[in-house]
Amino acid sequence: MAIDATQPYDETNIFARILRGEIPSKTVYEDEHALAFHDIAPQAPAHILVIPKGAYVSWDDFSARASDAEIAGFVRAVGTVARAAGMVAPGYRLLANTGPDAGQEVPHLHVHIFAGRPLGPMLAR
Ligand code: AMP
Repeated sequence: MAIDATQPYDETNIFARILRGEIPSKTVYEDEHALAFHDIAPQAPAHILVIPKGAYVSWDDFSARASDAEIAGFVRAVGTVARAAGMVAPGYRLLANTGPDAGQEVPHLHVHIFAGRPLGPMLAR
């Protein structure tokens, strides 16, 4: 179910639990600011999620409240993950669903990285 991205942070959300090590993930990268892992239901041959380590509900929350160091660290982590996976030359797509109209389901900011085939039109028609 899509979430309301204006709500306070929910410490029980699934990505908070992954960050606390309470449930497993297929980690591909981790540093001070970010964790990247494979999406559990991939929608492309490569489908990786990158999340900040801080408690941010959405892109809106993160861009408003995160420190410059957290934002720089997170953006660099997304680039590092895509580069390390060999996605730059063939190309990749980033997606950060924010709120109900975008269909955001998990209330912890995550950037999807899709790659591995031509990804088609930007939005379903
Ligand atoms: P969104 O609709 O943008 O909120 O996307 C949430 C994404 O999280 C979906 O692509 C799910 O497949 C993915 N997801 C949900 N639970 C897990 C999990 N435990 N491990 C990895 N990915 C997950």
